[in-house]
Amino acid sequence: MFQKIKEAVDRGRRFLVATHIDPDGDAIGSAFALCFALRSLGKDAAVYMRDGIPYRYAFLPKPEPMIREIPKNGYDTVLIVDCGDLARVGDGHETLNHLGYLINIDHHDTNDAFGQINIVDERASSSAELLYLILKALGVTFSYEIAISLYTAVLTDTGSFRYDSTTQRAFSICEEMTGFGVVPSRVAGEVYESHPKERYLLLCRVLGTLEFFSNDRIATAYVTRDMFATTGTNREHTEGFVEYIKEIRGIEVACVIRELDNGKFKVSMRSKGNVDVALTAQKFGGGGHQKAAGCTIEGDISDVKNKLTGALSL
Ligand code: AMP
Ligand code: MN
Ligand code: MN
Repeated sequence: MFQKIKEAVDRGRRFLVATHIDPDGDAIGSAFALCFALRSLGKDAAVYMRDGIPYRYAFLPKPEPMIREIPKNGYDTVLIVDCGDLARVGDGHETLNHLGYLINIDHHDTNDAFGQINIVDERASSSAELLYLILKALGVTFSYEIAISLYTAVLTDTGSFRYDSTTQRAFSICEEMTGFGVVPSRVAGEVYESHPKERYLLLCRVLGTLEFFSNDRIATAYVTRDMFATTGTNREHTEGFVEYIKEIRGIEVACVIRELDNGKFKVSMRSKGNVDVALTAQKFGGGGHQKAAGCTIEGDISDVKNKLTGALSL
């Protein structure tokens, strides 16, 4: 199954690993694990991501030096992880098509097969699950660095083993990673219990915007630039807010709408019913999974709520 990527890894000498903007645990963990693994095979490898590492993932060992600008040359193979389309890498992504042989490793329903090799399985809990299988096929010896990267990625992309994507394989990968020194309580402490108090000052404001639509089947809340400014926070502090809203009984779709620096709004959607939010996100040029998806919408906040609740048509 992984013959083509094995050949590409054998053939390649300089590898660039890239992932999506606003990186989450799966993006970071998958990219780091792959980079550490390539280095362990004697390859030259580096990670590019447009945005910095959110504070909650700062404990992960980093494959330094990280690349902060998309390079124009110097690499023969480019591996993109956890991106449904190449544009998710951010501005300048077009350059990557010319930089080297492009390999797409992902699990989004909306993946458009942009690579020369596409390893895409939407049934996988996380991109890290695919990386685990690939690293095994490449004969990589697992280290603590690889293990903690993969563990954190699977943990966060399954919502701490709560989503439908939580399979026996997701558990068994995590169980195996504990054998390389990963301590689950320590990872949970870093990822879930190390937030600055400002996050909760922001959360108070955001929960104050809670609204219900379509007979309480849709719930929305929003975050403005002004709220960020007055609480001393930024988008990093909002990760997981949409999960709080999803906890409400009877809700089918939870949405958090976040104002971006350019005045547009980034929408995060979570479904716990039959609504396929990836389809809704695609209507606005975004994407994701059936039960977790995102997109960007223009307009003022009430336009955005109208467009969104209209598109969800519940
Ligand atoms: P988020 O709401 O940002 O946590 O994203 C939920 C899921 O949708 C993740 O798998 C993201 O990778 C994906 N996603 C979020 N925003 C976009 C977008 N603008 N385009 C494509 N996929 C997205
Ligand atoms: Mn991701
Ligand atoms: Mn993912």
